[in-house]
Amino acid sequence: MIELSPTTALMLYLGLTLFFLLSIWIWNHYASRRRQILPAEQDLHVCEFCHFAYLDTGAKKLTRCPRCQSYNK
Ligand SMILES: [Zn+2]
Repeated sequence: MIELSPTTALMLYLGLTLFFLLSIWIWNHYASRRRQILPAEQDLHVCEFCHFAYLDTGAKKLTRCPRCQSYNK
C-alpha cells in the first residue's frame, strides 16, 4: 500500500477539487460560446416622438412605437 502523509492527502484533495472546478468552468465557457444570439431579422428603430429604441421587422415601412403607440416611418 502507498503511504500517504496528511499533508500529501490534503494537497491531493485540494488539487482534485481545483481540477474539478476548473474543468466545470472550461466546459461552461465553451458551452456558452456555442449558444447563439437570436438572428438579427429585426431592425432597430428609434421613435421620432419619445426617442424610445425598439426592434421591429424591416419589411414594414410604418412601425408602431410600443411605448407611446405612435407610428414612425
Ligand atoms: Zn414613441
